[in-house]
Amino acid sequence: MQRMAWVEINGVALRHNLALIKQRVPHAKIMTVIKANAYGHGLVAVAKILTDADGFAVAHLNEAQALRDAGIQKPISVFQGIQTASDWQQCQQQTLWPVLYQAWQVDLVCSHASHKTAVWLKVTTGMNRLGVTPDDALVLGQKLKTHGINVRLLTHMARADEGITHGQFTSQQLAVFAQVQQSLQLEASAANSACLWDWPNSHYDWVRPGIALYGISPFLDHTATALNLHAVMTLKTRVIAINQVRAGDSVGYGDAYVCQRDMRIAVVAIGYGDGYPRHAKSGTPVLVNGQRAFLVGRVSMDLLTLDVSHLSNIQVGDEVTLWGEGLPVEQIAQNAETIAYELLCGIQDRVRTAYQNV
Ligand SMILES: *Cc1c(COP(=O)(O)O)cnc(C)c1O
Repeated sequence: MQRMAWVEINGVALRHNLALIKQRVPHAKIMTVIKANAYGHGLVAVAKILTDADGFAVAHLNEAQALRDAGIQKPISVFQGIQTASDWQQCQQQTLWPVLYQAWQVDLVCSHASHKTAVWLKVTTGMNRLGVTPDDALVLGQKLKTHGINVRLLTHMARADEGITHGQFTSQQLAVFAQVQQSLQLEASAANSACLWDWPNSHYDWVRPGIALYGISPFLDHTATALNLHAVMTLKTRVIAINQVRAGDSVGYGDAYVCQRDMRIAVVAIGYGDGYPRHAKSGTPVLVNGQRAFLVGRVSMDLLTLDVSHLSNIQVGDEVTLWGEGLPVEQIAQNAETIAYELLCGIQDRVRTAYQNV
């Protein structure tokens, strides 16, 4: 049997989302964030579709190298930057822009100064994950400038997804960043997807959208539709069996689901081994031939089970949509107590990818 589950990647939707982002930030350049296999959409394929991006950003050097090996020539920023001298050499050879977030990395760069590539100095303004303190940034930024290095400033928002009405933390972060930027007078970047809507003073010279590009709302309290973002990934599979079960029967592993009445159950070829979340609860929506049906019982590795009692026209072979067009992945994430990011990144290799309109 062929691999069953597949994702459809809609190139028109991807380009639409980038165009929409461009309209929001007409004066900034856009580095599209394509780390983690472009949030599960395919690293190189997505880079090739996003011809209108000004540059790309990835987490790791090997992701950046894969893009260069595929012939991608635009600027590539590397969020986790360099760990060794040879990493820095690779950045210079391939013109990759590493993010520096420790003093020793700045020392390394200054002692092997290059004028071929640029670097980002990351300053923490409230996230306290990667980044030097604002005070250290003033010293380290000056040092990089003195060595003639093309340095820019970067920071990252911890709570922009909460939106402007709960925006005090983000505003504070941006105020701290603005002070460092004004002292050093460097090009800068602060905005993730959520910042594009609510915080014009975060836009600076480069913005870094990830999730919005893929058609997902970056906000907890706004849908993608309300923002006019179009879902790029649709996850699909097929019905492979239909069974009649009786009141009192349980479905799937354990006693997680016991039928209250006689039911018709569609068995569908996808499970957590494909990246569908095991913690999706009974009642999570699914589309069968475009009609809503609901998950019952535990998701297993290769299969899940749906209540299709209310649908009269279901057959083996029918197409099933797990998320994407017509069924926002945010809804599935909510039902599985996770976030859309995790579901997109979790798509496994055994799921086939079909690119459309690219
Ligand atoms: C992942 C990431 C982004 C993109 O964030 P989204 O919320 O997906 O827009 C931007 N900047 C940094 C440093 C990141 O790690």
